[in-house]
Amino acid sequence: RAKTLGKGQYHLFDPTMHAAAVQALQLENDLRKAIHQEEFVVHYQPIISLSTGKITGFEALVRWQHPSRGTVSPALFIPLAEETGLINSIGKLVLSLACHQIQEWYQKKLIDESIFMSVNISARQFAQLDIVEQIDQIVAETQINPQCLKLEITESAFINNAQSAKAILQALRQRQIQLSIDDFGTGYSSLSYLHNFPVDTLKVDRSFVSKLDGTLESLGLIPAIKKIAETMKMSVVAEGIETEKQLAQLRELNCEFGQGYFFAKPLPKKEATELIVASPKW
Ligand code: C2E
Ligand code: MG
Ligand code: MG
Ligand code: MG
Repeated sequence: RAKTLGKGQYHLFDPTMHAAAVQALQLENDLRKAIHQEEFVVHYQPIISLSTGKITGFEALVRWQHPSRGTVSPALFIPLAEETGLINSIGKLVLSLACHQIQEWYQKKLIDESIFMSVNISARQFAQLDIVEQIDQIVAETQINPQCLKLEITESAFINNAQSAKAILQALRQRQIQLSIDDFGTGYSSLSYLHNFPVDTLKVDRSFVSKLDGTLESLGLIPAIKKIAETMKMSVVAEGIETEKQLAQLRELNCEFGQGYFFAKPLPKKEATELIVASPKW
């Protein structure tokens, strides 16, 4: 970065800024290498049908196993990956690993085709011109039923590029790939976009769920979100369920799906497979 400023411009940085910049640059370099060195793995967190209490799908969540720093949180490196464009190759890798995983479970007859795999697609990734081709290629290569694939997109992915977003969503709809709005309620405040885009599921952000303490007041916006979803024929997933009380309150609201540490944390492939075999019921 300093290079672009030309010779003699280094004094623009004060020492603390310089240290932070060097650190960020180091992380960026490491991130670049991480893809080739196969340092990314995907963990799988079950999504539960609150009516049956059984696993109905999984969310794929990427983990970076850094050789010296240990596991780096996606909250830390995903923003950097977005900024640098590295998210495109990381995202493609995650999509491919997740699709291979669900196909493996299906072929081993551990799951049937009612179980879905939900994969996060960042705004920048979604804005790639060839995103639909990338998805087509991975679906073809893994031979998964496209109905078992669900993509999680945040509101910002629509808002910044409404025109192309609509075309992409329609292409996904044609392929029967499902779509969730992630972190619903935390982003853009206008709801009008929901009318224009074919969306299957709203994921209520964890910040709403964590407030639930058994009282009516703690429900906050969740009943309103549930109503919106009903009106639009969408289902609701509550993120971040950590307590029995929260689960009971969400069941009372007829919230269809839930996900959170109360059921299971995101699990490495092996443990996720063991969980499927154990076939728990909550
Ligand atoms: P997200 O998509 O909203 O994922 C849910 C996050 O909540 C995950 O954090 C999950 O581990 C965490 N979580 C689930 N249940 C609970 C709970 O009961 N309590 C608490 N405290 N947390 C819970 P994680 O894995 O650290 O990921 C953070 C974010 O990073 C994700 O939020 C998503 O925005 C992003 N991310 C993760 N993997 C990917 C990926 O493969 N691609 C992209 N584009 N983004 C990803
Ligand atoms: Mg998500
Ligand atoms: Mg989420
Ligand atoms: Mg969230």
